[in-house]
Amino acid sequence: MSDRMTQSRPLSSNGIDFIDEANLHGLLERPAAEPQAVRDAIAKSLSKEALSVEETAVLLSATSPELIEEIYAAARQLKRDVYGNRIVLFAPLYIGNDCINDCAYCAFKRSNRDVERRTLDLAEVRRQVEALENKGHKRLIVVFGEHPRYTPELMAEYIRTVYDVRVGHGEIRRVNVNAAPMDHEGYAIIKEARIGTFQVFQETYHHETYRRLHDPRTPKGDYLWRLDGLSRAMESGLDDVGIGALFGLYDWRFEVLGLVSHALFLQNHYGAGSHTISFPRLRPACGVDLKTGYEVDDDDFKRLIAILRLAVPYTGLICTARESAEIRRTVMEFGVSQIDAGSRIELGGYTEAGDAQAMEREQFELGDIRPLDSVMRELMVDGYLPSFCTACYRLGRTGEHFMEFSIPGFIKRFCTPNALTTLEEYLVDYASPETRAAGEKLIQDEVDALPDGADKADLERRLKQIRETDSRDLYI
Ligand code: SAM
Ligand code: SF4
Repeated sequence: MSDRMTQSRPLSSNGIDFIDEANLHGLLERPAAEPQAVRDAIAKSLSKEALSVEETAVLLSATSPELIEEIYAAARQLKRDVYGNRIVLFAPLYIGNDCINDCAYCAFKRSNRDVERRTLDLAEVRRQVEALENKGHKRLIVVFGEHPRYTPELMAEYIRTVYDVRVGHGEIRRVNVNAAPMDHEGYAIIKEARIGTFQVFQETYHHETYRRLHDPRTPKGDYLWRLDGLSRAMESGLDDVGIGALFGLYDWRFEVLGLVSHALFLQNHYGAGSHTISFPRLRPACGVDLKTGYEVDDDDFKRLIAILRLAVPYTGLICTARESAEIRRTVMEFGVSQIDAGSRIELGGYTEAGDAQAMEREQFELGDIRPLDSVMRELMVDGYLPSFCTACYRLGRTGEHFMEFSIPGFIKRFCTPNALTTLEEYLVDYASPETRAAGEKLIQDEVDALPDGADKADLERRLKQIRETDSRDLYI
């Protein structure tokens, strides 16, 4: 595709390149901030105010073990204050890996002859969804390569199919999407299919690196088209969007500032920031041999998550199964609020994959392929409350109306009870006896901790209904 063609695609009304690279580099080159400046930024964050790019850079400049420990402690506290002990669970569903782009890090790049290409048909999607529902999943993210055959109309048909599949008490109640950015009309079509979050990762906010890793003759080679992608989504009425960067392509500190700049830009122009931030780390992939020199080690990875937690207190942080079980367990403590579980990313993987991963059929290698039931049990043993809740999005509580955070006490009053009823459904319908025992104890402890009154009685009534009848989906 020529530059003229990519440039002729209409941007949003705010379609400017807002990544001020000179400024971001300037902030990162400043000498380490005084401890007091770091503590001031931490205090602002603990009062649940989002940080500016400059304040985030102050946190990034902290290198002494004491200050880094203070950042972790604050991130842990903020996570507890804002999210409580809930962890939201989902699973990815790869639908098609045809791709006309040539991203240097991805097995689906068009120049890769080693990967098996496949697009599931609607019947195959049904079988995948049945398998996912039979494990207890309620929330999916569907994933596509970028190809002219994956039109918004076709994607919408796939999404409607996912919602349509019902096995026993199983149903998918929320479908998020990770796909190439669209034009306004495309977003309007996909919105009609009732999607949850639309995710587009910028991959790297650093222009030169972006140019090097994305062939400029491909659609993805247009940095601004991608940067503007979620602004167009917002303008098309899709007010629930997720940003992300692929860590390991360029300096991780720069990418953190890029993510914060992006979140603030959306907040300032559309009245709602990004609903989620993702921070995948580069993984081995079939047909990919990329050494960037910017690989992020575990310590820096933990640090960047704690700093993001503090910078955007009200943004969900997602850590996927690219990471090992051990890393995921650690980062849930101080920031992460959503994880996938029981994930397989081979095309058709939920019915066809064996115990080992088939690299030639997946986009990259996963680090955690434990079954959902094991992940649920570990979460509960660790004191987390796993949630499949989808109430807000189904009641229109999204975008600038995200009530979770804007109404005092909303989480205690609505999110926790909804998490508990979705957990009860899981325990009754899908859990192993061991997981069920751990879960029933957790539910009892959570209910006991609630103040007596009408809300508690109502919750107990709904939990009993799930245990004793076929009633499901009893959200408030
Ligand atoms: N094709 C769409 C696009 O590029 O926007 C969908 C994205 S892709 C299927 C999902 C994400 O996986 C990419 O945005 C990228 O950040 C990430 N990814 C690609 N290759 C990866 C790798 N080798 N390791 C980890 N994550 C990778
Ligand atoms: Fe295609 Fe997305 Fe992979 Fe790039 S990251 S090659 S656009 S599937």
